Amino acid sequence: MSGHDVIVVGARCAGSPTAMLLARAGHRVLVVDRASFPSDTLSTHIVHAPGVAALRRWGLLERAVAGCPPIEEYAFDFGPFTITGRPGTAYAPRRTVLDTVLVEAAAAAGAQVRERFTVSELLVEEGRLVGVRGRGSDGREVVERARVVVGADGLHSLVARTVRPEQYHEKPRLLCGYYAYWSGLPMAGRFETYDRQERAFAAWPTNDDLTVVITGWPYRELAANRVDLEGNYLATIGTVPEFAERLRAARRETRLVGTAVPNYFRKPYGPGWALVGDAGYNTDFVTGQGIQDAFRDAQRCAAALDEALTGARSFDDALRDYQSDRDAHVRAMYEFTAGIASLEPPPPEVQRLLAAASTDQEAMDGFARVAAGVTSPAEYFSDENAARVLARAAGVGEGARR
Ligand SMILES: Cc1cc2nc3c(=O)[nH]c(=O)nc-3n(C[C@H](O)[C@H](O)[C@H](O)COP(=O)(O)OP(=O)(O)OC[C@H]3O[C@@H](n4cnc5c(N)ncnc54)[C@H](O)[C@@H]3O)c2cc1C
Repeated sequence: MSGHDVIVVGARCAGSPTAMLLARAGHRVLVVDRASFPSDTLSTHIVHAPGVAALRRWGLLERAVAGCPPIEEYAFDFGPFTITGRPGTAYAPRRTVLDTVLVEAAAAAGAQVRERFTVSELLVEEGRLVGVRGRGSDGREVVERARVVVGADGLHSLVARTVRPEQYHEKPRLLCGYYAYWSGLPMAGRFETYDRQERAFAAWPTNDDLTVVITGWPYRELAANRVDLEGNYLATIGTVPEFAERLRAARRETRLVGTAVPNYFRKPYGPGWALVGDAGYNTDFVTGQGIQDAFRDAQRCAAALDEALTGARSFDDALRDYQSDRDAHVRAMYEFTAGIASLEPPPPEVQRLLAAASTDQEAMDGFARVAAGVTSPAEYFSDENAARVLARAAGVGEGARR
């Protein structure tokens, strides 16, 4: 008999909730991570309203956001106009806090958690994943077997590299993002973004009275701008003198860190394995969807695995639905995000729509909900909604002239 029902490789936003939900459903789960917790990871950690709802549903919200101010208002400054809306409360808990709460919740649910455990190899027998080989902190090599291995091991997933899933809708790296934490930069519960010619930056509050400020430039400038990261970071912020002035009164508390990421979908299941979080699907971080996407994957994948493990449905049927739900849910956001990450001006009809939206609170709230992943861009940018926003804006203009 297999040692575990499920082994989950990776214990952050995707892995720990998957392990927690499977353990809560009564399955024998081992979750491993080469990191120990609390520990940080490269991420600016905004959790929009749908991610907040998942934390609340799991009974973890209070602990995850302790000491972290709520964010109620989103402001998107495009230069000629600004869209300011309320998409539902968000938080940006540091990953040191959030991931630790998630790991502890997996353990509290009955999952066996092994920190400082590096998986070096996946065990494959007759074309099927049957377990992992790895080393814990004592350096001893260990083999663990399970009915299913879940890869929650992030962008450079060893599980995905081993099973080589079909990859689709791929896009190259589009954006370089570099960020640091600042003190003395109050945000008053606001998430602010600024888009300028081939440059963008954003700021929002996190734990310990700190504010994260992230800047972005096109990926093609990666090498050239690396020579003077600090200068380029400040020059990007300098494109908006009023914000640069606010920053002059603040103090940078950490060094600059950053990266650029590829964009892809992967088939998230096969014989003896499943993928959740960045291991199975990745979109640019510019819209901050990764954490709530990982939460949704965990919920859906754990439900599908529960069906398969209890024999309620076949593994393939249950996991096929997981894949099609995921793809249907994120596809429009994936394209919207890629458009923003390109830092190119949107098509003229979108510019007209956004300019019109900026005169109407309902339309601004609607756009903020799109950016937060609450509603689909497909809905907001549909001909029907565009016509409504433009008509309302024309009405407002009429009213103002009278
Ligand atoms: C610069 C940047 C900014 C971002 N900002 C945001 C944001 O504001 N909001 C948002 O929602 N998302 C953001 N994201 C995306 C978000 O961080 C990811 O989508 C999210 O972390 C994915 O979670 P995950 O659990 O799939 O993977 P990860 O968080 O990458 O966790 C994977 C885990 O697997 C472990 N692991 C890997 N290989 C092994 C192995 N062989 N053995 C054992 N353990 C292993 C790692 O140690 C790691 O702990 C950002 C990303 C970047 C790069």
